[in-house]
Amino acid sequence: MKRIVIANWKMNPKNIAEAKKLAAGFIRLGGIRKKINLVIAPPFVYFPIFGVKFELAAQNAFYETSGAYTGEISPAMLYSLGIRHVILGHSERREHSGETDSVINSKVKAALNSGLGVVLCVGEKSRDDENFQVFVRDQLRKDLEGISKRYSAKIIIAYEPIWAIGTGKTVKPEDLYEMTTYIRRTLLDLLGKNAAHRIPVLYGGSVSAKNSKSFLDVNGVNGLLVGGASLDINEFRMIIKSAL
Ligand code: PEP
Repeated sequence: MKRIVIANWKMNPKNIAEAKKLAAGFIRLGGIRKKINLVIAPPFVYFPIFGVKFELAAQNAFYETSGAYTGEISPAMLYSLGIRHVILGHSERREHSGETDSVINSKVKAALNSGLGVVLCVGEKSRDDENFQVFVRDQLRKDLEGISKRYSAKIIIAYEPIWAIGTGKTVKPEDLYEMTTYIRRTLLDLLGKNAAHRIPVLYGGSVSAKNSKSFLDVNGVNGLLVGGASLDINEFRMIIKSAL
């Protein structure tokens, strides 16, 4: 399986001129980007910069198809634009937009029903709490409740410990192995054996050119979700090279 690397630009860059400059860097990646599954998740307004040449992900989508929901974007709208993935359950949305597991579950269902693939983010707030694994299991259980096994080919799990996002702190390889194994065991309980084998599990949280290989070397890790480091094309190119 080719490694998956997702560039989450979050609410960056600040304007269209800077976004075009950054996108040009991604275009200049040339052949190496075809050796991995590269997905770019820019803010909605920057989608047109990329045309059809890139696999794009939305950073959010609503759970209804259309209607009186000011400010929302539906999965069906995204699909009709050629977008094929959506990131859901990101800890920044759980925190800043108050997204609960029940809302995330509705969004997961709507996205899958509209044909989008879902990158579902889960992760504990802190490792001091002895129940941190149970916390992640509960997120998976609630966010994937009622999802049919037949959608398992459309689901990616991103394990993103909240304490590691944008902080420069990262998980130790042995802890990452333990958690990805635990996530797969949970997927086995929720969606069955095939799904547990088939669903890619990514790591996200302060990934950089210096540390990316250490995560990719962990058995059971299928790729990376990269935030801050995806805004610097030289750094990001080195991350991609570590995934070849
Ligand atoms: C993220 O946006 O999901 C993320 C992991 O951010 P960062 O790489 O900046 O920690």
